[in-house]
Amino acid sequence: MTFWKRLKRNIKNLNDSELREILSSQKQPAFRSEQIKKAIYKNRKKEFSEISNLPKSLTSYLTENFEINSLKIRTVRKSRDGSVKFLFESLDGNSLEAVYMPWFDDSSENVERETLCISSMSGCSVGCAFCATGKIGFKKNLEIAEMIDQIFLVEDYLHTKLTNIVLMGMGEPLMNYSNVIGALEILTDPNYEIFNRKRITISTSGIAPRIKQLAKFIRPVKLAISLHATSNGVRDKIMPINQSFKLETLMDAVEEYYKITKIPITYEYIIFDNLNDTENDIVRLTKIARRVPSRVNIIPFNDISFTNPTGFASELKPAKREKMEYFAAKLREKGVASIIRDTFGGDIEAACGQLALSEEKIIQTIEI
Ligand code: SF4
Repeated sequence: MTFWKRLKRNIKNLNDSELREILSSQKQPAFRSEQIKKAIYKNRKKEFSEISNLPKSLTSYLTENFEINSLKIRTVRKSRDGSVKFLFESLDGNSLEAVYMPWFDDSSENVERETLCISSMSGCSVGCAFCATGKIGFKKNLEIAEMIDQIFLVEDYLHTKLTNIVLMGMGEPLMNYSNVIGALEILTDPNYEIFNRKRITISTSGIAPRIKQLAKFIRPVKLAISLHATSNGVRDKIMPINQSFKLETLMDAVEEYYKITKIPITYEYIIFDNLNDTENDIVRLTKIARRVPSRVNIIPFNDISFTNPTGFASELKPAKREKMEYFAAKLREKGVASIIRDTFGGDIEAACGQLALSEEKIIQTIEI
C-alpha cells in the first residue's frame, strides 16, 4: 500500500541554484532561499505554512508545488539491547530501513552516543554474499530528502538529538554518489547545526574511483571500508564488487583518501569460519591496515537464513567467538588497533546484513 501519491517535487532535493531559480521565477529576492532552508533544516518546519517570515503568495505557491516531507514511518521494532529499527515508506511506495543504536557508558545507565545507521538505497545492487539486503535486489537510489528525513523522523519519534550518523544501512552509498553528496552538504552545513562532519561515516564496499572523489568533498567525513577478505580470490566470492575494483585498486584509493583528508580509516572485517580466518589473513590484514592510520573492527557474521540463501552464500558460517578474539589480539600485537564490534538488534533482525524487508517475521512490532 502506498501512503501518499507522488505529485510534487520535494524541496529538499533542490540544489541552491535550482531553488534560487524557482524563487526568482516568483519574483522573490535571493535571500528567501536561505530563509526557507533554515526553516526546514534548522527549525525543522514540516509545512510551508509554518514558515512565518514568508509572504503569503510564496507560501501558497510552495504548498501547491512542493513537498517538504518524503517518508512515513511504517513500523518500529525495539530490541532488548536498546536499539530500534525503523521501516519507512517513501512517497513512491518503496521501503527502506534505519537502525538507532545507543552506546552506553561503563555504568550501562547513561547513553553517551546515539548513532543512526541510515540507508542510501531501497534494496541494493551490489549483492554481497553475506548480506540480507543484497538478496532483495536494487529497488532505487534514495533521494536527498529521503536520506535526511530518516534522521529527522527518528529524532522526532525518539525525542532525541542523534550524535552520529553512519551510511551503512541498505545500499552502497558511493553508487548513489550525487544524492549522498547533496545530503552531506546539508547535514554538515554549520548554518543548520545538524551534525559535525566528524560525526558522519560513509561505509563502502569499495567503489575506488568514488572514494577518490569523496576525498575532495568540501567538508570531509569518516570513511569505513567493508573489507571482509585479504585476498582477491576470497573477496571476489563474497563481494562481487571486487571483480570491478581489486584490492590493490581499492587500497590505492584508500591511501589517497587519507592523504587528502588526514582522517584515519576504519576497516570492517566479518570473520567467517574456515574462509578468511587464517594466519595468512592476519599477516595480510596487518599489512593493509598499516598503509595509513586505521583501525579494524572485527564483526560477527549474523544469521541470514531467513533470506533462504543458496549456493556459496548458504555455506557461510560464523567463526567462533574465541577465533574472533584471537584475530583481534593478534592484530593488536602487531600494532593495529582492533576491537570486536558486537552488533545491535540481533533479536529484531536489525544487525548489519539483516536489513531485509521481512515484516512477516516481526518479533515485537508497534504499528503506528
Ligand atoms: S553489504 Fe552493503 S553493499 Fe553489500 S549488498 Fe549489503 S547493502 Fe549492498
